Amino acid sequence: MTTTPRPDVHSFSNFTQVTTRSLDLSVSSIDFEQKTLDGFSCLELEVLSSEAKEVVLDIGKQKITGVTAGVIGRESGVTQWQTPNFSIDPPTEHLGRPLRIPIPEGAKQQKGALFHVKIHFTTAPGTETPGVDWLPAESTSSQTHPLVYSQFQAILARTVFPCMDCPAVKAPFAITVTTPDGMAVACSGTSAPTAEAPCQISAAVPVKGGTYRYVQTNPVPSYLIAFACGHLVHLPMSARCGVVGDPKEVAPGVEELRGVPEAAIRAAEEITGVRYHWGRYDILVLPRFFPFGGMENPNLTFMNACLLTGSRPLVPESEKDESEVPLSDLAKRISSVDKCLVDVVVHEICHSWAGNLVTNAQWCDFWLNEGFDEYLTRAVLERLFGADYRKFQHRVGLGEMEKAVIEWMEGPEEEREYAKVVPNVDSIDPDDAFSRIPYERGCAVLLRMEQKIGRQAMILWLKSHFSDNAKGTVTTEGVLQHFKEKHPKAHAELDWQEILYRSDYPPHDFEDIVASPADALLQEALRASGVSRGSDGKPKMTPMEAGDLKEKLSAVLSSSSAQWSDLHTSAYLDELLLIPGERPLSPECAQVIDSILGSVRDGGGDISSCPVTELSYRALWLRLRARDLSVEGLLRSFLCGIGRGVYLKALYCEAAKMDAQMAGRIYREARGRYHPTARTQAEKALGPEGLKAAGLD
Ligand SMILES: [Zn+2]
Repeated sequence: MTTTPRPDVHSFSNFTQVTTRSLDLSVSSIDFEQKTLDGFSCLELEVLSSEAKEVVLDIGKQKITGVTAGVIGRESGVTQWQTPNFSIDPPTEHLGRPLRIPIPEGAKQQKGALFHVKIHFTTAPGTETPGVDWLPAESTSSQTHPLVYSQFQAILARTVFPCMDCPAVKAPFAITVTTPDGMAVACSGTSAPTAEAPCQISAAVPVKGGTYRYVQTNPVPSYLIAFACGHLVHLPMSARCGVVGDPKEVAPGVEELRGVPEAAIRAAEEITGVRYHWGRYDILVLPRFFPFGGMENPNLTFMNACLLTGSRPLVPESEKDESEVPLSDLAKRISSVDKCLVDVVVHEICHSWAGNLVTNAQWCDFWLNEGFDEYLTRAVLERLFGADYRKFQHRVGLGEMEKAVIEWMEGPEEEREYAKVVPNVDSIDPDDAFSRIPYERGCAVLLRMEQKIGRQAMILWLKSHFSDNAKGTVTTEGVLQHFKEKHPKAHAELDWQEILYRSDYPPHDFEDIVASPADALLQEALRASGVSRGSDGKPKMTPMEAGDLKEKLSAVLSSSSAQWSDLHTSAYLDELLLIPGERPLSPECAQVIDSILGSVRDGGGDISSCPVTELSYRALWLRLRARDLSVEGLLRSFLCGIGRGVYLKALYCEAAKMDAQMAGRIYREARGRYHPTARTQAEKALGPEGLKAAGLD
């Protein structure tokens, strides 16, 4: 199934008239003092329309230092370079600027003609280029060299290099990067050294600078082009998987992750029926100030170091290569690895199908990347850890969905739009609508389809979705049409208007999918804590003395500590966080919960100081909701040591409600280490008073 291209509201490019066939990006110099990149992008373009007289590319604030263009000879393949009269229109707020280049004579208005454009650029310094993050040496583990890395999703590739910056345009690319001394480069492709670019990242610590080249042979959108340059090494885990990162991070990374990617890739191949298209798979471990848990850059997942907590697979090393170990044995080995880490790695690997192979054509359809990914992720986790594990994951996901819906619905009226599965994001930067909605509410759409046609039929349909659309792009309309062709009755019975375009979430019943023994235990713990669902469907908590709560909750957890998992802790805290109202519980009760959950997990200590940040941030959040002033020290050390956007958003927002002065003080101290995207999120969460206290009003 192919979709007819239509204009993208987040791109100036005229990709319906001219399309990108391939892209060659070169970063010839990296200036860590000025925080700028010099380079060029060379695009091979094809004329699609006999009307096409110019090619329009997206750019940001970078300086364009030269443009050449030339027709590619039909027989010779040789480009006749010329210097065209290009022009740049004034900027539009979040979209940057259109760069207009006349199509060279000989290709102009010639359908099917090929031509090159080559544009030299120097990026705007530092945070003026939000597509790259510059971290000082102190933010890395070795603390010897700074680090620069890119993060282009959704529309930030243009801030670095001129391109058709929209997901509907997919093309193979090559990237060449020259490094300063002591640094190496990793990119979202396969290493492809040449005589001019002979360097390859390895286990040896880089001493001299050099030139590295990577190629991506699959067509990908611009947001998946990625690079990182720093004091980086690569250690293999198996024939096709490895870890890249700071020399101090890679060995522990390999020890903890061994077997996880291989198991996930093989399980996903079985479920989708579509082979892994990308060749190698490596994980780049980035400092804790990376604004996400992970980013699915092809061949090279970018992952936040906070996910490495020191857990270990049951058999750390095998005599055979992992590729020869049966999947069921691999699954057993990795069953002891921290589940938050496994979940993120599986999620990013599933993007090798959902998102990277089959891509949303426009950003309002982001659920086609993330919702399909979550559904596939949980099928993979089921293959590895059993059916109950999948059910409980969906249960937790539905809780996250509810939380995200409530956050948007209780915010400013114009933002309620973003609680929809398919929101209207036309007039904003798609990142401003970012939340768990496309993930969890998107996944819930697939659960509804599953309820209609059954699990087996759903997996079969999913297989056809991935095989029919491989290497292409999809829209909501196209996907529904595809579903209709295979399941006309189910399609007709579902109310798509309500499923996709309603802001508040209608009452749902997924009990048949999510009920499990794990869920029963969670419900028991919630009952013991006085938490139940009211007639309005919202959770409420019966006021309780801290001593009473301690006794009742301990009784449940101590008798079932072997079954109680991190996922339980996470889901339990999520349910409490969903309770509406100013202060749903007393500080003493929040402390009791923090301490009981800590001791069931680690035999002592609070959950708010455990190494699994997915848990500690929730516990801190709960204590803030309880208006527990004693949490300040703990909160400060957490927020000064990590830069994940979701954490900052939740914690600064709640901290500002409790004590705006305190929230502002912490932010002032931590701000310099945060990624530009994370800063925007934190500053929105702090509100006017918090910003004033941070000295930023
Ligand atoms: Zn994702």
